[in-house]
Amino acid sequence: IYDFFTGHELNPRMGSFDLKYFCELRPGLIGWVVINLAMLLAEMKIHDQSMPSLSMILVNSFQLLYVVDALWNEEAILTTMDITHDGFGFMLAFGDLVWVPFVYSLQAYYLVGHPNAISWPVAAAITTLNCIGYYIFRSANSQKNNFRRNPSDPKLAYLKFIPTATGKGLLVTGWWGFVRHPNYLGDIIMALAWSLPCGFNNILPYFYVIYFICLLVHREARDEHHCKQKYGLAWERYCQRVPYRIFPYIY
Ligand code: NDP
Repeated sequence: IYDFFTGHELNPRMGSFDLKYFCELRPGLIGWVVINLAMLLAEMKIHDQSMPSLSMILVNSFQLLYVVDALWNEEAILTTMDITHDGFGFMLAFGDLVWVPFVYSLQAYYLVGHPNAISWPVAAAITTLNCIGYYIFRSANSQKNNFRRNPSDPKLAYLKFIPTATGKGLLVTGWWGFVRHPNYLGDIIMALAWSLPCGFNNILPYFYVIYFICLLVHREARDEHHCKQKYGLAWERYCQRVPYRIFPYIY
């Protein structure tokens, strides 16, 4: 049962077709955008609007940016835990193909039945929050991905790292010197920005951000455990240099 859930096989393939690599991004993320667009059209039709509402435009644009970014930087997924560590079992298959498109589109779905008018200044503030989250998320992920691909890249010479017995280094400056999972921090800030256009009348649009914090805190603990096993003393030195896991001065 455990193997069925977490996946026995790390990279199941049919010939050269890698099932997990394909499912991780394409069907779920593209399906999510399609459902969001359907919700945008449904809102216009049901409320007889010639234009989608500002809240709906924000939710659709923020999530479209996230999906386009993931597909544009598709090769960056090769250094993530899903690819390098987790097997392709029910958890990932269901998550990629069902959970992501149908649950991540909850905010757009909510706005169809519960319109929420927001002013331009509020929209500008939420957009700024999303941009901050995106900036942290993208630069942290790119820093780690580029460093893993080519640690001697002259463009990364400004980054300091702790050497480990495995030959890989652990970054201790840049985003990875700020907190131990800066990419999670950026992702959570964006998740909040996706919920705010829905207002505060219902908890449903906030399901994603609450669930996501739980998921990433648990994921961070799993990664911490693997890294401790993999890097031993070097990891402990890293934790001393960078004490906060996701949220600076909090956790
Ligand atoms: P990460 O991309 O954060 O990868 C973790 C790995 O990075 C570690 O196992 C280690 O691997 C390496 N690492 C850790 N610390 C350092 C360091 N200081 N220097 C260099 N390398 C380090 O993990 P995830 O796969 O969890 O996340 C990838 C992205 O996907 C994140 O942005 C996350 O927010 C997002 N995500 C989104 C989800 C969603 O549903 N929207 C769900 C899950 C994740 P090694 O040393 O072996 O290279």
